[in-house]
Amino acid sequence: MQFGYSETCLDHDTGDRHPETPDRLRAIRRQLARRHGVEYVSADPASADAVSIVHDDDYVDELQSFCSEGGGDWDPDTVASSGTWEAALTSAGLAQWAAERALAGDDGRETPFSLGRPPGHHAVTDDAMGFCFFNNAAVAAGTVVDRGDADRVAIFDWDVHHGNGTQDIFYDRGDVFYASIHEEGLFPGTGAVDDVGTGTGEGTTLNVPLRSGAGDADYLAAFETVAAALDRFDPDLLVVSAGFDAHRHDPISRLRVSTEGYAALTDRVREAAREMDAALAFVLEGGYGLDTLSESVATVHETFDGRTPVAVDDDDPTDATRDLLDRVRSTHDL
Ligand code: ZN
Repeated sequence: MQFGYSETCLDHDTGDRHPETPDRLRAIRRQLARRHGVEYVSADPASADAVSIVHDDDYVDELQSFCSEGGGDWDPDTVASSGTWEAALTSAGLAQWAAERALAGDDGRETPFSLGRPPGHHAVTDDAMGFCFFNNAAVAAGTVVDRGDADRVAIFDWDVHHGNGTQDIFYDRGDVFYASIHEEGLFPGTGAVDDVGTGTGEGTTLNVPLRSGAGDADYLAAFETVAAALDRFDPDLLVVSAGFDAHRHDPISRLRVSTEGYAALTDRVREAAREMDAALAFVLEGGYGLDTLSESVATVHETFDGRTPVAVDDDDPTDATRDLLDRVRSTHDL
């Protein structure tokens, strides 16, 4: 894969005891150094204008001032430092780069994956939230639609948390589809099956809130339902909001996806993108166990580098997952 990366993203300093640390990127880099065919590309920071495609100007100005004054606790979870402003613009810029490269035809071993931080999917139009300042995937999607490089973009969010920010930003838009698989009841508590969008965006939001304890078979079954909806939407570009905190050894969730499960999911996402003839880009979201995060990212890379996923556990999805997916399909007429 081509990985978008910039040292500037290390300058977002969250302090000593925060799970979202620069060590996340360092661990990924160390793990990828052991793998074949890894390519790094840097990208320009997003402009404040580009960020304003999906965020209010007042919020963008407020964040810039907050960081220039040294930062601090934006809210109890979300910490900024003086370096956060540039890091957040760079993280958004890397996501833009990934979307642009994918639409320019980079695929297969050249598939782009932006390794930015801070992450993005909790950031709403007018506020930072849940470790996120700018909604990187949303900036990328908004940019390529604004420029006319894509008519329709789908964002598939496999992070264990619901991407409330991405959902909100595009809730009334028919040109950006947001689909999320997440753990029900976890932060921020949003992401119900009945949230389907509004106005011209009706039908372009799809949520699969899995019960705690769900694992590989549940995630893969959930993706089949997501894929059917994405196929009907027929996007030009599929952006994966790729968090790795649904991993069974991640410290902050109770889902049970394995490292190999991420390989299988990657393989299915790639196949689905190919079937719907959509460009494909990955944008890093969460993932807080340094070993599981870095091994999972490396597994995504290896899948694109030609490694065939090993069969994951053969368990069927649970009855709760089957019932949930029936409900999702009937809500969306799938
Ligand atoms: Zn997360």
